Amino acid sequence: FLTINNLHKHFNTKSGNLVVLKDINMGIQRGEFICAVGASGSGKSTLLRQIAGLDQPTSGEVKIDNQTVNGPGPDRGMVFQHYTLFPWMSVQENAEFGLKLQGLSKKERREKASTYLDVVGLSRFAKSLPNELSGGMKQRVAIARALASEPKVLLMDEPFGALDVHTKESMHQFMLELWERTGLTVFMITHDVEEAVFLSNRIYALGARPGTVRREMRIELPERSQQIKRNSTFHDY
Ligand code: ATP
Ligand code: MG
Repeated sequence: FLTINNLHKHFNTKSGNLVVLKDINMGIQRGEFICAVGASGSGKSTLLRQIAGLDQPTSGEVKIDNQTVNGPGPDRGMVFQHYTLFPWMSVQENAEFGLKLQGLSKKERREKASTYLDVVGLSRFAKSLPNELSGGMKQRVAIARALASEPKVLLMDEPFGALDVHTKESMHQFMLELWERTGLTVFMITHDVEEAVFLSNRIYALGARPGTVRREMRIELPERSQQIKRNSTFHDY
């Protein structure tokens, strides 16, 4: 339902024309957990920004349900590495942020945000400020905020890159559990191949040089599901 067709992205820089993405083609089905991996500078964030509509491709297109993307929209939820929460707003207010733009009433906004704070297991921290939470919890608030607008796809750029090993592991369990429970479609960027193998059912590898062969690895789903610890609990570090 999400397709990327012959996507090219060039930047005009002081040192000339920089080709970052060259002839990218991808097809993502509803309910897939896709990871894109690649070295620093390979164009991962640039690719995600084209899908998010935060930037326009030089040529080619991104389509969602056959509609060409030409700007950001509530059908795509975004999660970044550094949480990007508003420190002066409570967890609840952060989760509600964005719903206003969709024209929802105060009551509807409160209900939606509460629903998704519950989904990420943070209901009892609704009144807390972001700085009172651990890194993993902050990232779960960011995930709740992204989910509150009920997007068709969750786009994540190195979401666990800033977390310590233990928190990262518990977030991996959390993501798989969330994905299983909600049937969410996830497109996640990471430079950590091990993380990509653990989480995704399909991996796209971006070559270090634009235009180099982009490999696609398929990981069988049943094998992956076995990695999910059922009834796992969340650990807050
Ligand atoms: P990292 O793992 O470090 O986050 P990345 O794979 O996400 O790297 P990008 O941020 O997509 O890489 O950047 C890819 C290349 O494009 C880099 O060489 C970067 O300098 C260049 N680039 C990105 N955005 C711009 C811009 N707005 N103008 C000019 N060059 C840019
Ligand atoms: Mg990046």
